[in-house]
Amino acid sequence: MNANAKRLSGDWRVSANCQHKDPNSLFVRGRKQHEVKSICAGCPVLTECLSHALDNRIEFGVWGGLTERQRRALLKTRPDVTNWTEYLQATPTIDAAAADTTVRPARRLRAA
Ligand code: SF4
Repeated sequence: MNANAKRLSGDWRVSANCQHKDPNSLFVRGRKQHEVKSICAGCPVLTECLSHALDNRIEFGVWGGLTERQRRALLKTRPDVTNWTEYLQATPTIDAAAADTTVRPARRLRAA
């Protein structure tokens, strides 16, 4: 199974920019998170990663290009969103104003 097929089948981690990084490098605290999240720029599975973290309320580390604080702010500003996977796939950009960033899901999963 090639990387694209694995990603479409749900195993999105195989295409992650960080797949060969030490996992601990993404689980730093405080301002260090703003430094390490640069690895997420252009990640082909940013949308999947961010929605996984938001849907599962993962509190620690950098996920989908957002720090812990930015994700908390996003969840707080959109308590009406119950399925972030669907929401991010349907929304071109989300303004995480409280998180001082704009999240641009890198790519959409489309049915063939
Ligand atoms: S968005 Fe960032 S943390 Fe998520 S898979 Fe990509 S590189 Fe890793």
